[in-house]
Amino acid sequence: MAATLIDGKAFAGKVRGQVAEHVARLKEEHGITPGLAVVLVGEDPASQVYVRSKGKQTVEVGMNSYEHKLEADTPEADLLALIDQLNNDPAVNGILVQLPLPKHMNEELVINSIAPEKDVDGFHISNVGLLGTGQKSMVPCTPLGCLMMLRDHHGSLSGMDAVVIGRSNIVGKPMAQLLLGDSCTVTIAHSRTKDLPDVVRRADIVVAAVGRPEMVPGDWIKEGATVIDVGINRIERDGKNVLVGDVDFASAAERAGAITPVPGGVGPMTIACLLANTVTACCRAHNLAEPEGLTA
Ligand code: NDP
Repeated sequence: MAATLIDGKAFAGKVRGQVAEHVARLKEEHGITPGLAVVLVGEDPASQVYVRSKGKQTVEVGMNSYEHKLEADTPEADLLALIDQLNNDPAVNGILVQLPLPKHMNEELVINSIAPEKDVDGFHISNVGLLGTGQKSMVPCTPLGCLMMLRDHHGSLSGMDAVVIGRSNIVGKPMAQLLLGDSCTVTIAHSRTKDLPDVVRRADIVVAAVGRPEMVPGDWIKEGATVIDVGINRIERDGKNVLVGDVDFASAAERAGAITPVPGGVGPMTIACLLANTVTACCRAHNLAEPEGLTA
């Protein structure tokens, strides 16, 4: 392997450390403890694992964690009433509604009922607009984590050619906005892109957020490029269940200058950035200085 490994697990530990330091300072100097409320509707097993992990890490960095578990058949009006209560609770600085929601609920309506300043997932339409116009916003956690790793590796990203594969609202589009904000020349590729290999071969930075196991082979990667693999795909290999990304790691690592592994790359950064967003939201709510390096 020629590429430098970008260790997301270690980097996430560093981010959590910075969050914990800031939380301790908020407590000591201002008597404030940031709080994150996570709402889970139904019993989706993957969502339960995520919510548990978020709650555990929230407490580990010294913040208050509030978990709200609702039955799968909870009326939408009850969820909206809970969100309204959390919006008005000064102890709650961040609100995260775990997606996906049960089919009878309107996800857009629910997300847009969260107060934008407490929308630590960055999915509220106001935050989408603020990010799109280069203003201070709550930034979606996964793209924020990717940006932090890229900045850490390169310092400045200015003038670099970046290709984001995938145009979802939660990863692809905000990722492209962030890279544009850092003065990259950005191309967004998707399922209708003509000659994807050629588009990817031009990129100094490749962010793959597709959800197709190992679809990007090494020979699409420009020598020395930085590859950020957002994909999380569970496949069976040699009779075992394994996690792989959207990039064929072994062949891409032969050509890339730096690459994130799966698992242990982007994944751990997502929750770390959720904690970072919560402490940022808390500082903004109290008109206090925001922690440096934890926002876009
Ligand atoms: P979506 O399914 O919402 O979006 C996938 C995107 O990939 C779409 O824009 C789609 O294009 C594009 N696409 C599909 N097939 C191709 C193809 N053959 N060539 C080029 N583009 C293609 O996925 P998400 O953005 O939600 O997630 C992407 C991946 O990232 C998943 O594996 C997911 O599990 C993972 N993920 C990981 C996170 C983490 O914490 N590490 C967090 C969030 C997601 P089109 O729009 O044209 O259909």
